[in-house]
Amino acid sequence: MNYQRPKGTADILPGQSERWQQVEAVARKIFAQYQYREIRTPIFENVDVFSRSAGDTSDIVTKEMYTFKDKGDRMMALRPEGTAGVVRAYVENKLYGPEYAKPYKVYYMGPMFRYERPQSGRQRQFHQIGVEAFGSDSPVLDAETIALAKQLLEALGAKHLKFVINSLGDPATRKAFHAALVDYLTPFKDELSEDSKVRLEKNPLRILDSKDRHDQEIVANAPSILDYLTPEAQQHFDRVKTLLTGLGIDFDVDATMVRGLDYYNHTIFEVMSDDKVFGGGYTTILAGGRYNGLVEELGGPETPGIGFAMGVERLMLLMQSDQEAAQPDAYIVTIDQGADQEALQMLTALRQQGFTGEMDYMGRKAKGQFKAANKAHAKLVLTIGESERAAGTVQIKNMATGQQQAFPQADVLADFGKIYTQVTEAK
Ligand code: ATP
Ligand code: MG
Repeated sequence: MNYQRPKGTADILPGQSERWQQVEAVARKIFAQYQYREIRTPIFENVDVFSRSAGDTSDIVTKEMYTFKDKGDRMMALRPEGTAGVVRAYVENKLYGPEYAKPYKVYYMGPMFRYERPQSGRQRQFHQIGVEAFGSDSPVLDAETIALAKQLLEALGAKHLKFVINSLGDPATRKAFHAALVDYLTPFKDELSEDSKVRLEKNPLRILDSKDRHDQEIVANAPSILDYLTPEAQQHFDRVKTLLTGLGIDFDVDATMVRGLDYYNHTIFEVMSDDKVFGGGYTTILAGGRYNGLVEELGGPETPGIGFAMGVERLMLLMQSDQEAAQPDAYIVTIDQGADQEALQMLTALRQQGFTGEMDYMGRKAKGQFKAANKAHAKLVLTIGESERAAGTVQIKNMATGQQQAFPQADVLADFGKIYTQVTEAK
């Protein structure tokens, strides 16, 4: 039997996993600066959590969700995105009070699952790092959230970024635009793709997001949602644009951008890159927006919300160069087999003092051990042979300078830090 990983999944191996840790560490640090705290919700939820929030007609719910019945006959789904579960947790744990704790800001990171056709930057198990903030409908928070996205992506080394924003307005905007859109699209009904024919009945806004070429041609001349913003929605959007400009963030407004999930309103945004790794054209790395009304939809009190999710795999494609494995501070070479007990004790002592280190576990000859130390880019090589054992010493070589010197084993065991500084700082 020849086992293979499921299609659309990846093994993240040493060499890659260091980069993941680095991305996560940078994200955690920046989120703390913006006063976001981590939330961890289940990887599966009752399917209704997703269908209720993403919308029954979204691609995610109609085509991409991994659903299954558990042994208790409950219909469950692997989470296709992060927001729905976070909102469910927000409501279930009554995180909406007290007033002084608003906005309530959380971040998450972890795997998401969507049954899609795998290709570069599109997997069936992929990872998102995302934020959600509840309880404020101030445009200041919209602008701050976009500023956070920018700081995060730049700290992670992403370049060639384009920020695109749009407004989906409030419910009155949606209603007026819905009518105008149906009026415009109905004469084209027979020409629309099969999916879009259904969308025309159920959720015409979705047609703006169609990936079908001919749908896109039809949609090119559709009315613009920005012409249907109510005065309040217009004011909100204008304020967001002013605040972004004040922050020095360049952006494009794209009135045809609607996003893949039904729960958005007011400000929505995407950060795209045309880096050559994506093979021409813009690819979305990070996307988000406002979702006032979603908390109510999932049974909570009226609460505005806003957030974004970044696709980690797509970000990784931008951060090309392979990370070296962590360089060990010390590699202990044993000249004769009898020294392995001393080597193990010394290595254990070094690790307890906070150093990283390695020794030989393969019964290699001294020459092979030196080679392994070199390949691992060890900073110092500590050698114990027969004469060192007799004298109670150890030879310490600085691999960068080639300088070598003997030290008492007792000193190494007691305080390697002092010796490490002395050896690495010697010219
Ligand atoms: P697309 O239009 O590319 O399918 P989407 O609108 O479905 O994107 P979102 O639900 O907004 O994507 O997810 C936010 C981000 O998560 C995307 O911008 C992308 O970086 C990442 N992402 C979404 N789906 C996948 C996937 N199948 N594989 C890898 N990353 C993904
Ligand atoms: Mg998608």
